[in-house]
Amino acid sequence: MATPRNNGSIIIAGGGIAGLSAAIALARENETVRLVERGETFPVDGAGIQLGANATRILREWGVLDRLLTQAVRAEGIGIGDGLTGEALAQVPLGDYAEQRFGAPYLLVHRADLHNALLDAATTYPAIQITTGAEVTDFDQFEEEIVVKTSKSAMRGRALIAADGIWSNLRSKIDQNAQAAFTSKTAWRTLIDPAALPDELQGPWTGLWMAGNAHLVHYPVQAGKAVNLVAVIEERWFARKSWSEEADPATLLPVFERWHPRVADIVAAGKDWRKWSLYDLPPLQRATRGTALLIGDAAHPIQPFLAQGGVLAIEDAAVLARMLTRYRDDTREAFIRFENERIARTARMRYESRRMGNIYHMRGLSRRARNFALRRRSAEALLSRFDWIYGFDALAFPKG
Ligand SMILES: Cc1cc2nc3c(=O)[nH]c(=O)nc-3n(C[C@H](O)[C@H](O)[C@H](O)COP(=O)(O)OP(=O)(O)OC[C@H]3O[C@@H](n4cnc5c(N)ncnc54)[C@H](O)[C@@H]3O)c2cc1C
Repeated sequence: MATPRNNGSIIIAGGGIAGLSAAIALARENETVRLVERGETFPVDGAGIQLGANATRILREWGVLDRLLTQAVRAEGIGIGDGLTGEALAQVPLGDYAEQRFGAPYLLVHRADLHNALLDAATTYPAIQITTGAEVTDFDQFEEEIVVKTSKSAMRGRALIAADGIWSNLRSKIDQNAQAAFTSKTAWRTLIDPAALPDELQGPWTGLWMAGNAHLVHYPVQAGKAVNLVAVIEERWFARKSWSEEADPATLLPVFERWHPRVADIVAAGKDWRKWSLYDLPPLQRATRGTALLIGDAAHPIQPFLAQGGVLAIEDAAVLARMLTRYRDDTREAFIRFENERIARTARMRYESRRMGNIYHMRGLSRRARNFALRRRSAEALLSRFDWIYGFDALAFPKG
């Protein structure tokens, strides 16, 4: 391991997927990092996360993939079906086929396993100092340094990376117009025993079932020992800033009453549901101010319909490390370049995720037209639509 550069630490607010990824990516480029997490312990609950090749190739480069593989499931494909009829409509091929195309695997993991793998990797770097139980509340910028205020103390550093998640309190200090809004959709999650799935749905597959008012996603996590269920429904709810509200299935189950029993029974197998509200945030006018920068959900929370929220956070970290290395002596310039590089991709991801959500919840004739189109699409056509997502190589940034 090379000697860390001694030109002032980079302070990271938030120890989620974005914050830990950034810490690793920066330490690999010989930066010294101080990561500050609000929780006394790291919040590691949550549901499954799907990691496309655009994330796993970065994790492999960082040496995190091997730590994760023991807990992950390598997906063979995504089965797409109609929730009302139970008909299987299409299968997006993953497995070897996609791995050869994109050069890295598609993995199904539990968020806690990903978080733990990143935390394990981060703690191997002496250049990363971690503080828990301290909330970053504000910062003041000066010519030569930034002073970051936390609920415990003030810290001096060279720059601040705000990776404090969708309900970021630092975002308004960088873009004061940013306003996240509740979408009237909630996402419900739980883990079930794999044996609760019908035989033909078991194995290393993601299942996606769609109907006019909701959709259901299921896939194995924890090395296949559990199946992650996520049901997204349209719901008027007093949205809370929480990932883990206890949720009463009496609200959920009626939504699936008219669904085909093959799918409705999967939902009925769920116990101990938790839910969170889905928010939307239009692209920021600015993600950086001087030597402060927003990344991850703090900068671009997206709805989960392309399974790219956590993945974008990992990409951000890889691109950021490249920019700080290229503009080694000018952090402000590095942050502006980072913002310029990321805005188009993250805005497109937001737009396409929302569009997918609308497609999943189509009704009437649109639903029938969607199903017709899906039945006719070849495996190659189904996968190639995602080339722009999984084929993206954040490690190759910037080009030239
Ligand atoms: C407990 C938890 C459970 C989740 N469960 C799911 C899920 O089931 N499904 C899903 O799609 N996404 C879930 N997510 C969100 C998902 O992890 C993110 O969308 C994605 O990984 C981007 O990560 P992020 O690091 O930008 O944000 P997050 O993962 O939200 O991480 C933000 C981190 O910053 C910390 N933090 C917040 N404010 C401050 C502050 N002022 N100072 C210091 N630290 C601060 C938080 O405690 C958290 O650890 C969950 C997030 C959390 C924190």
